Amino acid sequence: MQAIEVRGHGSKVKRKEKVESILARLQFLKGQVSELRKKCEALKLQSGSRESLVCSECGKLIEPGQEVALKSSLGRIKAYYHRDCFREIWRSQMWVFDYSQPGFLRIAGDNC
Ligand SMILES: [Zn+2]
Repeated sequence: MQAIEVRGHGSKVKRKEKVESILARLQFLKGQVSELRKKCEALKLQSGSRESLVCSECGKLIEPGQEVALKSSLGRIKAYYHRDCFREIWRSQMWVFDYSQPGFLRIAGDNC
């Protein structure tokens, strides 16, 4: 903060300086707060608008658009998988149609 030239009244100048510097600091903090708020909003837009999906196979987060949803017959989503993870499961498992269970499709040997 630059000293402000006021003729005479040295203490007044100092006080004014102090106030100015406090104001400047407040302004600076306000700027930081709004900056942080902006960042929060951006983050909310990225992640908050949709809940983050976790792959049921590998347990890692799934980026938007990369998910495969496994739905029950009621349309309720039972699990999410990465496309690649799901492909691996699909390839490695024997799938059977099971009309006694709501999923209709189940992994052979899976008794749940
Ligand atoms: Zn995965």
